[in-house]
Amino acid sequence: MKRRLTTYFFLIAALGIALSSLFGVWAYRDREISAARQTLVELLDLMDAQNYYTDPEAWAVQLQEAAPDKRLTIIAPDGTVLSDTYGEVTENHADRPEVISALETGWGEAERKSETTGETLLYEAKQFTDGNIGRISMPISSINALFFQGLVGFLVAAAVALVLTLLLARKLAQKTAQPLEEKEEALEQEGEKLQIVRSEFAANVSHELKTPLTSIKGFTDMMNSGMVKDPEDQKRFISMIGVEVDRLIELINDVLKISELESVVMPQPDDRADVLDVAEECRTALEQAAQDGKITVNISGDDAQVAMAPSRLRELLTNLMENGIKYNEPGGRVDVTVKREADKVDIVVKDTGIGIPKESQERVFERFYRVDKGRTRKTGGTGLGLAIVKHIVLLYGGTISLESTPGKGSTFTMTFRPAEESAKAAQ
Ligand code: ADP
Repeated sequence: MKRRLTTYFFLIAALGIALSSLFGVWAYRDREISAARQTLVELLDLMDAQNYYTDPEAWAVQLQEAAPDKRLTIIAPDGTVLSDTYGEVTENHADRPEVISALETGWGEAERKSETTGETLLYEAKQFTDGNIGRISMPISSINALFFQGLVGFLVAAAVALVLTLLLARKLAQKTAQPLEEKEEALEQEGEKLQIVRSEFAANVSHELKTPLTSIKGFTDMMNSGMVKDPEDQKRFISMIGVEVDRLIELINDVLKISELESVVMPQPDDRADVLDVAEECRTALEQAAQDGKITVNISGDDAQVAMAPSRLRELLTNLMENGIKYNEPGGRVDVTVKREADKVDIVVKDTGIGIPKESQERVFERFYRVDKGRTRKTGGTGLGLAIVKHIVLLYGGTISLESTPGKGSTFTMTFRPAEESAKAAQ
């Protein structure tokens, strides 16, 4: 990446340097030509001011000595060449553009190949006060010589600028690329890790599916073999198959929930759930389970709204309250309390159940982790409930903590921002 960035930065800067050099060179040559013309104009003005016609010969000699590359021609208004420092010229000059213009406007100029000398020349012509035309020319080649001298300076400056650009481009590329490369590396590592988590998850799901399927296969094999003759036994086997099928459905539902949470769900800015209302709905849904386990479920506390989709809060509370009922003793309680403070809402689900040993308290939020596999096989449960709970809590920017004493009970405390606070923050 560093090399590519260096090349890009360098090419962009080099293009800038090349364009500005080209423009500079062009402007420089233009300035040289203007300066040369200006000199010719000044010379003609001087000649006129000093009445050249009193001694044209002396002027011609003086000019040739001072500027041998310049040629002075004196032309009569009818085009006859009166004198020329180049030598004897017989050709009529009335058709020369600079002469025509000088006769019309007082001044004329041109750049062309001279028919007399064959060189490309710059011409400047003026109609003097005596009516004759004074014309001075100089070869473009002498301006070009000056220009090429200057061009060397330009090229050296451009070369130095290019070297500096290359050094700067490398530095800049390094500075730009470094944090990106670090991020890329971190992302790559995060991606490797994700892959491991995914394949572990797939392995665990397959393992979890295998257990009920093996049981179902065992029951059906026994029934097929004709060994189970008693109709009562047959009924018992069929209901055991039903239990295993329920377990499979529960597991598949939980796995689907997890993958949905991982890939599809995004918190929406107008998500809102009334905590007491949702807790009440959950209690109704779990009424039968609570009755079967002889557990009392209580809901109390402050009116509060959190910025969550009600279906997600329902999922979360159902999992926690169902666990409170499931991992409890007959006569036990599950208390759901809502506490609204200025900048937070606490939702506490407390039970008087069997509790969770210290060493398992962190791990219960892991996928498929179960403290007592034997008990969960009896009570049902996929080992995914608390993983889903934690996922939802984190998705909505909340926190969850667990306090538990084996034999006494467990307390799950979740904290979220109140819905109004989240709405304010979103604005
Ligand atoms: P499961 O479907 O097995 O209930 P969870 O992820 O909900 O899966 O819980 C993981 C494990 O944590 C359970 O198997 C159980 O051992 C333990 N656990 C969860 N909640 C409680 C609770 N309220 N009291 C005691 N143990 C619990």
